[in-house]
Amino acid sequence: MSNQMLNSTKYQHSFLDGSACDLPVGKAVCVGRNYLDHIQELNNSIPQIPILFIKPSTSIVDVRRDIVIPTKQGQCHNELELCFLISNTLTNATEDEVARAIAGVGLALDLTLRDEQQRLKESQHPWERAKSFDGACPMSPYIKINDVTNLESLSFSLEVNGEVRQQGHSDSMIISVLPLIAEMSKHFTLLPGDTVLTGTPKGVGPLFTGDQLTLLLTPDMSIQTSVV
Ligand code: ZN
Repeated sequence: MSNQMLNSTKYQHSFLDGSACDLPVGKAVCVGRNYLDHIQELNNSIPQIPILFIKPSTSIVDVRRDIVIPTKQGQCHNELELCFLISNTLTNATEDEVARAIAGVGLALDLTLRDEQQRLKESQHPWERAKSFDGACPMSPYIKINDVTNLESLSFSLEVNGEVRQQGHSDSMIISVLPLIAEMSKHFTLLPGDTVLTGTPKGVGPLFTGDQLTLLLTPDMSIQTSVV
């Protein structure tokens, strides 16, 4: 199949083990500034309350296909994040309810037009132009939750052209997975097929056409992809 045809194939959630996933593709609820090292690299302050935002279903694409970045709005930065697939409706949920609603763990890139975001911040405008465009959320297959021993012990990394650019660990999150998703569910009902992105560690930087990326979720998943 040509890349052109692959790119036009509609995204569906999938499991790494190849088993079927019939959850629809919903929104991705995201948190900003959830790792101290990333807050420091951008000279941001630690937020009083979690900074929540949403990427629409139209932003989600398969990370295993070529990543198409916008080229006319300044730098497009990588933000590699742990991502959780939701299988039950969550409204004002407890952490126990959240734990029962997670179907899988994967990785997603919260692609961010950094120059555009800076302009929006300075104008006190919302961030959607910088973070919610078509293709702004390349997503991996999911490791089934039954195959994950500990949500507090997930290591992940991003290599760009063979060099490690980002390394993260779930125990470094300011708000950990279950309370974060519980907090999100107080404001936005999560539906089956929605996903949650949990914030980026340090190492954000510009992506360029031709970059070769390797996304690792230790020890189970390694994905190679290209920026076009
Ligand atoms: Zn992010």
